[in-house]
Amino acid sequence: MKNLMLKLTVVIGLLFSSAVMAGSFPTQEPMGGKAFGTSVKEIGDGLYVFRWWVYRNIFLVTDEGVIVTDPLNPKAAGLLRKEISNITDKPVKYVIYSHNHHDHISGGTVFKEEGAKFIAHKNVLTQLGDHPSPVTPLPDITFEDTYTVELGDRTVELTYFGLNHGDSLVVMRLPKEKILFIVDIVTPRRVAFRTMPDFWPDEWIRSLKEIEQLDFDYVISAHGPENQPAIDPASVVAEQRVYLEELMAAVKQAMDSGTHSPDALRKTVKLPKYENWRSYDEWLPMNIERIWAYYHMGW
Ligand SMILES: [Zn+2]
Repeated sequence: MKNLMLKLTVVIGLLFSSAVMAGSFPTQEPMGGKAFGTSVKEIGDGLYVFRWWVYRNIFLVTDEGVIVTDPLNPKAAGLLRKEISNITDKPVKYVIYSHNHHDHISGGTVFKEEGAKFIAHKNVLTQLGDHPSPVTPLPDITFEDTYTVELGDRTVELTYFGLNHGDSLVVMRLPKEKILFIVDIVTPRRVAFRTMPDFWPDEWIRSLKEIEQLDFDYVISAHGPENQPAIDPASVVAEQRVYLEELMAAVKQAMDSGTHSPDALRKTVKLPKYENWRSYDEWLPMNIERIWAYYHMGW
């Protein structure tokens, strides 16, 4: 059995490296580990997903060093550094920030100390200037629309889609592997986060439509407990967009029919199609209140 698994792993690795991607990844296999702990999963060919509680990032081990994304926080970054050391002696050369929010990009000091260069959209620099954090190194390299990180024959393309969740979020694409790493604006099989803090509903939908046009087969997202897969099929981007469109349409219809109180909307608007999504009971009413505010106040 162990031999068979080893052979299967080798076959999957070969499929991966020859870029025959369709169906090569186990999109049903859970991330694993304890709910409040960490876990690491190799997706293939030096690409890893690191989980800390419900947060995730990716790191890429190349011949010339390691590319790390969002360090999350000092505790998680320390654990991530250990996990990387268990895999390779090579130094971390780049840290890529997905956006400005402290819950994703704190704790990078450990990588700064070993000489890593930090990369982010230019608005991250402004926002960290307004809301500095002693545990969040400022980016060394910033860009406006797109930026390509190359290291040891591996490539990560960064693209900014304008306002959606804050105004500095970048989507990371591994072009050879056709994988996207998307933070906060795509969380598969879960309703939107609470009252959707710093989310701009209409710009979020526009961005997702633009992201759907990219060339990719798989999505790694930055949130999910241990029982959710490390990697999902590309279809989760459209599923996220359709959820938002249906949420907005349901709230608008209820308001157009005369329900204007957010308390009443929270109780009466339902989206039964999404009953099986995580946090439906707890967070759908909060999602509804956010959309009420959007239509009521115009933002
Ligand atoms: Zn965020």
